[in-house]
Amino acid sequence: MLTTTSGVVIRERLSGENNKIIDILTEKSGIISAYVRGGRKINGKNSASSQLFVYSKFCIEKSNDKCILNSSEVIKVFYDLRLDIEKISLASYFSELLLYTVGSCEDTPEDICRLLLNSLYFLSNGERSAKFLKSVFEMRLLSEIGLMPGLIGCAVCIKYTDDVMYFDLKNGKLFCKTCCVNKSSTDIAAVSEPVLSALRHIALSDMNRLFNFRMSEHCMTELCDITQRYALTQLGRNFSTLEYYNSLSKGAEL
Ligand SMILES: [Zn+2]
Repeated sequence: MLTTTSGVVIRERLSGENNKIIDILTEKSGIISAYVRGGRKINGKNSASSQLFVYSKFCIEKSNDKCILNSSEVIKVFYDLRLDIEKISLASYFSELLLYTVGSCEDTPEDICRLLLNSLYFLSNGERSAKFLKSVFEMRLLSEIGLMPGLIGCAVCIKYTDDVMYFDLKNGKLFCKTCCVNKSSTDIAAVSEPVLSALRHIALSDMNRLFNFRMSEHCMTELCDITQRYALTQLGRNFSTLEYYNSLSKGAEL
């Protein structure tokens, strides 16, 4: 049976001398793994469209639970990703997060593929910083897969805003100064007012407006720290691609 789907290649695995297996984050069916015959040949018919982080239209043949790429056509190549080690390592972290959190089911939210495409677009053309995109991706992905924290107001008294609020990373709840009982716990992060509005925007805004906000460098550092801690706490593990990405920015600071 042949099916047609659009999606982004988020992982390539080598298979034999000329072949490979690709994982595609599709628009409607989660992640599909497909075998690409001749995919490692420079001039193979599916070589360009089955490369890592290329957005393509795929025609896939399904037989006995195996998916084989029949034909494909490039929709968009994010050329500038490959020229920058920081950009490509952040994109690899996005892939690792997706491979861990998104299954191969039909009810995968369509916005997840849009989130990746928009993130790669801004990452490639440099219109948004890597830090900004990392925070947006982490927070929005978790929200899309059902781990949206309760950010509307304090979980006890419903207070909406304060100069500092407290975010319980483990339970995904917000507390005001008065209601937060354990401010020094490692699972609690103090959140300033501008960072809280950014978190609310990322989790709740319409996908069309998701990337339309700006932050000062100081607040960006705070936002980046909180979204990473929230992602790692909620997913209960670390990611080697994230460690690598963070080691690059530490190197740049020295
Ligand atoms: Zn309260």
